[in-house]
Amino acid sequence: MKNKHSLGLVQIYTGGGKGKTTAALGLAMRAAGHNFKIAIIHFMKIWNYGEIKSLRKLGIDLFRYGTKDLIDSKNPSPVDFEQANKALSKAEELIEKGGYDILILDEITVAVDFNLIPLKRVVDLLDKKSDNLELVFTGRKCPQELIERADLVSVIHEIKHPFQKGLKARKGIEF
Ligand code: ATP
Ligand code: MG
Repeated sequence: MKNKHSLGLVQIYTGGGKGKTTAALGLAMRAAGHNFKIAIIHFMKIWNYGEIKSLRKLGIDLFRYGTKDLIDSKNPSPVDFEQANKALSKAEELIEKGGYDILILDEITVAVDFNLIPLKRVVDLLDKKSDNLELVFTGRKCPQELIERADLVSVIHEIKHPFQKGLKARKGIEF
């Protein structure tokens, strides 16, 4: 194994079903129990998610970017570009600085899919990261190039979601 914790792989949680971000949060919660140092960067959401308080209780660092408004994928606003690029710069900074065992980049693949950030810079993260940093990507429509580079890829497929029955996002479940 590579190091004392055997960390250092690249994980991806993608697909159209619900559970990608919560999978990464579950992983963070488990790792926090072993006193690992964890950071999460939210690429495009600044709503009042329940995990904001929960992560603080667990000592997990959270950096949030985005706006309150839904992004128009065909016509993102300048602030959407700015926020996604700030999130990516933060990821680059944390990777360069080192010190974390696990870094979770939440919704990063969506930012790439919306062309808010270049895929090349995301691939560069994989080249620059230290051997013992476990790097986790979440989000729909993960580019093939990232899938090929990853060690663990789970695609969550939607069979049913209460949203289809008209049920709106629920506190504690969706946010
Ligand atoms: P979660 O955060 O619950 O793990 P997710 O990360 O898989 O979901 P995203 O693609 O990030 O899902 O979707 C953002 C929001 O839409 C979340 O509030 C999520 O719960 C909800 N959602 C996820 N999948 C679906 C779906 N298939 N239909 C409707 N809403 C969904
Ligand atoms: Mg998500």
